[in-house]
Amino acid sequence: EAELTDPGTDDSSPEAGPDLGPQPVVAVVGRPNVGKSTLVNRIIGRREAVVEDVPGVTRDRVTYDAAWRGRRFTVVDTGGWDPDATGMALRIAEQAQIAADLADVILFVVDATVGVTDADEIVGHVLRGSGKPVILAANKVDNQQMELEAAALWSLGLGEPYPVSALHGRASGDLLDVILDALPETPKQTFEAERGPRRVALVGKPNVGKSSLLNKLAGEERVLVDPMAGTTRDPVDELIQLGGRTWRFVDTAGIRRRDRELKGADFYASMRTRAALERSEVAVVLIDAGEVLTEQDLRIISLVIESGRAMVVAFNKWDLVDEDRRYYLEKEIDRQLVRVPWALRVNISAMTGWHVDRLVPALEKALDSWSTRVPTARLNAFLTELVAATPPPVRGGKQPKILFATQASTEPPKFVLFTSGFLEETYRRFVERRIREEFGFAGSPIEVTMKIRE
Ligand code: GDP
Ligand code: GDP
Repeated sequence: EAELTDPGTDDSSPEAGPDLGPQPVVAVVGRPNVGKSTLVNRIIGRREAVVEDVPGVTRDRVTYDAAWRGRRFTVVDTGGWDPDATGMALRIAEQAQIAADLADVILFVVDATVGVTDADEIVGHVLRGSGKPVILAANKVDNQQMELEAAALWSLGLGEPYPVSALHGRASGDLLDVILDALPETPKQTFEAERGPRRVALVGKPNVGKSSLLNKLAGEERVLVDPMAGTTRDPVDELIQLGGRTWRFVDTAGIRRRDRELKGADFYASMRTRAALERSEVAVVLIDAGEVLTEQDLRIISLVIESGRAMVVAFNKWDLVDEDRRYYLEKEIDRQLVRVPWALRVNISAMTGWHVDRLVPALEKALDSWSTRVPTARLNAFLTELVAATPPPVRGGKQPKILFATQASTEPPKFVLFTSGFLEETYRRFVERRIREEFGFAGSPIEVTMKIRE
């Protein structure tokens, strides 16, 4: 029995996966007409943000992907507001608060030729309390004589004002350097060679054909058995060459060992499954196509969902399914997998080898989805259109809005919607579905959460 004790959860943690993390966000705030759009144009290096000569023209929040010295980041122009609107001071504070919530770094633009206004004071107050790094740009410093006026902005209590001329580009490179310094560290792109073979957990109830499939995949070639460094025998992975690359099948020792007749086998099997998932990036859930889905199958699928791993569901023993029952069975399977419509599916026979070659493309697709990052600008452009076509339902007489969205992580992909007001669950699910459709996350779970700004 001691042999069954699962060590997979302690000292056998996976190699650190490459969490590329989100692209850092720089939010630009400031009163109307101080030159925010002009400055954004400078930063992104193209004339995309439309500069309106009409003071205070209301614009929508716009996002751009930018890069400086090889560092990529997202710029959010928090937009202008209608100067005639009532409660102007409140709106200014609100805008600054949004910026503080969503940004990693805040670029506060002040017109040095005008000096500090009441509105600037309000913004300054909000930003000082935000705990986020704030860079104060003293704009419209078109020549050296004007640098003195820039110095007056020290009074905002936000540290050194950086004089810049967005219009002429004066000192804008220096400003970008300062922004870059303030950005949070994001790990460098990790290459496949460094991350090692992709890790697969082969899971499924006893007798479903796991070891048969392993044998089939490994073929005649001798498989490399890889005892984990620092452990005695357990868990043991196998490295298998498939489709021109090496895959690491985790804890194959657990699959090959016949421990199912032993007492408590169920409990250990589930612990093993958890541990294998923990160490994997993608799971192949093996299901017996000859039977209806059992409680045990569903429990294993739940474990995969919980783990956040990519998922391929393989219906095995397809050779036992009669020709004329196949269509009906496909429909039945659709119905059974309603909880995970996103999981990729393959029908195989581990025994005959039929369609086993379809497993690798499915694994590759699922992992690809799992690692996908949608650029912030693209995500927001998509959501703007989506919300315009189908606005969230009004709640308590108020129209909730999606102010900004970002993909906060990959592996698995997680999205955060910054909203004003509560989005109904049905609407959140609708957004999730549409994100799936638009960006294609087949084989990967995704998560869409909201952050309400009251
Ligand atoms: P926003 O409302 O803050 O986005 O401001 P805009 O970028 O639309 O700029 C408002 C006005 O200020 C425009 O007429 C710009 O040409 C002008 N402007 C922007 N930056 C500068 C600058 O560095 N120097 C001068 N002299 N004018 C500028
Ligand atoms: P495990 O417990 O999940 O590792 O399952 P095994 O690989 O030991 O398989 C259990 C039984 O199912 C064995 O008798 C296998 O020969 C049989 N089996 C596995 N795959 C297939 C298949 O594709 N078709 C058929 N007909 N039998 C299979």
